[in-house]
Amino acid sequence: MGEKMHAEKYEFKAEVKKLLDILVHSLYTSREIFLRELISNASDALDKLRFESNRGSAIVDKDLPLEIKIDFDEKKNILTVSDAGIGMTRDELITNVGTIAKSGTEEFLKLIAETKSETSNIIGKFGIGFYSVFMVAKEVVITTRSFRSEALPVEWHSDGLGDYEISELDEKTFRGTNIAVHLKDDAKEFTEKWRLENIIKKHSNFVSFPIYLDKEKINTVNAIWREPKSSVTKEQYNEFYKFLSYDNDEPADVIHKSVDAPIQFNALLFIPKKSSEAFWFDRENYGLDLYVRRVLIQHKNKDLVPEYLSFVKGVVDSEDLPLNISRETLQENVIFTKIASSVTSTVFGYLADKAKSDENGYKEFWKEHGKIFKLGYGDFTNHDKFVELIRFNSSVCKDKDELISMAEYSARMKDGQKEIYFITGPNRDSIDVDPHMEIFRNKGLEVLCLFDPVD
Ligand code: ADP
Repeated sequence: MGEKMHAEKYEFKAEVKKLLDILVHSLYTSREIFLRELISNASDALDKLRFESNRGSAIVDKDLPLEIKIDFDEKKNILTVSDAGIGMTRDELITNVGTIAKSGTEEFLKLIAETKSETSNIIGKFGIGFYSVFMVAKEVVITTRSFRSEALPVEWHSDGLGDYEISELDEKTFRGTNIAVHLKDDAKEFTEKWRLENIIKKHSNFVSFPIYLDKEKINTVNAIWREPKSSVTKEQYNEFYKFLSYDNDEPADVIHKSVDAPIQFNALLFIPKKSSEAFWFDRENYGLDLYVRRVLIQHKNKDLVPEYLSFVKGVVDSEDLPLNISRETLQENVIFTKIASSVTSTVFGYLADKAKSDENGYKEFWKEHGKIFKLGYGDFTNHDKFVELIRFNSSVCKDKDELISMAEYSARMKDGQKEIYFITGPNRDSIDVDPHMEIFRNKGLEVLCLFDPVD
């Protein structure tokens, strides 16, 4: 690797150590997800490079192709993932790879420590990505060079146990990041070509840069949200959803919309079957991916739909935003705000249709996502549509699972009834025996039964 200079040892931060300890010492049913995480980081790094390039930043090795390469050495038991993305400086390596700068990490660690079995799914959803490599690696060597011309290339290496070492490289290294994974003896399968090909197809098929395995392009690289609805199959939608959400299940709903005027955009949105178990401690982990002309501008943008629709996953892509738009000024961009309100209306429209045409499906939706949806009571712009979609249990319902709409409630209101009555309680049984209910029962007045703290 040429001469190394200024080698220095650093210790991982406490939370990283804790996480590594769990990753190294637990048994995982699908360790293969480490590759998805490395590829996803490589893809992010390429996205960031393209972004810098679009806004005119000076870039080292400007003409390197934006692609991801995967190589393997069966004899040495080494797997390598490399990209020509933005790379990292020494300081960036220390902040990005030596610490976890994420809210909810504490809760997350508790959860994976408790959930001994299927943790890989939670790991993927939480996105502590890089460290998952230590499920299969006894040593990892990162060689990286930032796109910034003044930064020296650096090498990072660690066995994932307690510390890591960084040295500067004096020789010419190309821009981007190369991650050499020295596999554990029991992880030899990750140098088998067919196995790697399978994993890439399964988890990384929709990465928007070409992935080469042994010089052969493996992934699909198409933006299915820009294709006409009629040409996309159910399988493709499902596959894309799984890629996007790390959910193993198929989505409950697919909303594919293409708008040309007054502002052009494509949206491909999904509603998961189940509410995300990670949501309650990982509040930041939501949002839609924003593209401009197929170029990713921002992962998990939080302004395209209001927070109470945060269960919606998907992508939005527009021709009408400038490619060099900065993430910081998006919210003030008039075109962006119009797209956002149109995306929100699209979701409302879809749900209103579903409530009418598929009562059971809507009930399922409400059971899973109603808790979050109800947080929308304060959104005055969409108030009427919101009221149309909320559901409650009421004293008229036969059991605790039945739901009514506000329209049904008002249709049953007595002449002269000006108020909506409600009662709160931990469950339906305790409400049924509540003495306050007597008077309403006698007068034949319907009472909403509220069980959720948010109600
Ligand atoms: P996440 O990707 O969710 O931020 P990771 O632990 O996977 O978490 O990665 C931590 C950080 O390390 C990334 O946010 C990124 O800044 C940096 N990083 C990881 N891989 C690469 C890469 N291939 N090129 C450039 N930066 C990278």
